[in-house]
Amino acid sequence: MATMTAPLTPTKHAVGGAFLVVDATAAECFFPEDFSEEQRQIAKTAAEFATNEILPVSDAIEAKDFAVTRRLIREASALGLTSVDIPEEYGGLEMDKVTSAIVAENIAKQGSFSVIFSAHVGIGTLPIVWYGTAAQKQKYLPKLATGEYVGAYALSESTSGSDALNARTRAVLDADGKTYTLNGEKMWITNAGMADIFTVFAKCAAGAGKDGAGEDGGDKEEKLTAFLVEKGTPGFSVGHEEHKLGIRGSSTCPLILADCRVPAENLLGEVGKGHRIAFNILNIGRYKLGAAAMGAAKGAFNHGLQYSKERRAFDRPICEFGLVQEMLADCAAGIFAGEALCYRTIGMIDAALKGVAGDDTAEIQKRIEEYAVE
Ligand SMILES: Cc1cc2nc3c(=O)[nH]c(=O)nc-3n(C[C@H](O)[C@H](O)[C@H](O)COP(=O)(O)OP(=O)(O)OC[C@H]3O[C@@H](n4cnc5c(N)ncnc54)[C@H](O)[C@@H]3O)c2cc1C
Repeated sequence: MATMTAPLTPTKHAVGGAFLVVDATAAECFFPEDFSEEQRQIAKTAAEFATNEILPVSDAIEAKDFAVTRRLIREASALGLTSVDIPEEYGGLEMDKVTSAIVAENIAKQGSFSVIFSAHVGIGTLPIVWYGTAAQKQKYLPKLATGEYVGAYALSESTSGSDALNARTRAVLDADGKTYTLNGEKMWITNAGMADIFTVFAKCAAGAGKDGAGEDGGDKEEKLTAFLVEKGTPGFSVGHEEHKLGIRGSSTCPLILADCRVPAENLLGEVGKGHRIAFNILNIGRYKLGAAAMGAAKGAFNHGLQYSKERRAFDRPICEFGLVQEMLADCAAGIFAGEALCYRTIGMIDAALKGVAGDDTAEIQKRIEEYAVE
């Protein structure tokens, strides 16, 4: 098998959704067998880190000992695992999407940490990578890359989840144009209990001052807008932890914005264009979520397999029973299919992104969106 990264060139087979109507040969698809040496090495590094550093402190992670979790993020950062998607000039490795997914898959041996890590490197960091000004990138990305800062993304509210554009949180620009005042609440925000920097979405009217009407007569309709809100900002607080049935070690809290004073330079992107940030960031998060879920499935399968060899019933290990073997075989087949699906899709994304400048956010997003069906 080839060992080159992403052997695909965008042909008509690589058009989004083509898998539904066009047969492709194995040679036209990207699979784990096509990982480059560097990608294999990163997979090994991430897997060893998960096995040797994360799993031994699983109890502390599950008990929400955030000092342990933050230490692990910093250690993962020292290995480069948190900065795959961050540009080199801001302390990142700026690597391809397959590598990013390889890290997500291999970190996923511990569910809670996987969620914390994925939220940090994905929805917590990517809004600044893609939409930040040079000053915002310079201020936050090096800290996010080293794990000095943990990131979070706050879109959902108690009355708007799937229906995210229906947010009630409001932002109003002061008359002097220097500060936005945010009021509202956010719900179920991953990493909230330990994060330092939050991308917060609020409805805001373009050009509107405190009285709701802009001096320039700007658009009075309030539209979703993104802001970078630092922990410790006046008027910003984090509510109680939601204690969940699963992924119990990940932090999930509401945010309270009570006359929260955000400097105007912390506006992310443009007023009224926050929906683009919100949905594009979730779009890119999905392929990595697939890879992480597949990595977790591999871990669960290995536990099940081991247990089936150790557990005895009717004087034999239960793995000798046909029905147990069938369950294991079904799991293995599902994981194999999931793995093929993930890396074929992400290989197509990398092929489609070849030659696109790293800072051409609009073009990158257009090309990734092509594979939304996959
Ligand atoms: C552990 C955890 C972590 C989270 N982390 C974050 C985070 O970091 N940041 C953040 O912003 N949010 C976060 N969320 C919130 C998450 O994004 C929302 O839960 C999600 O968007 C769904 O919203 P909801 O829970 O309000 O469900 P609802 O939108 O009320 O949906 C309820 C049900 O109705 C269905 N439904 C809704 N609309 C339609 C439709 N049009 N057609 C058919 N069915 C529909 C849904 O599929 C679902 O089954 C987190 C949630 C959890 C549980």
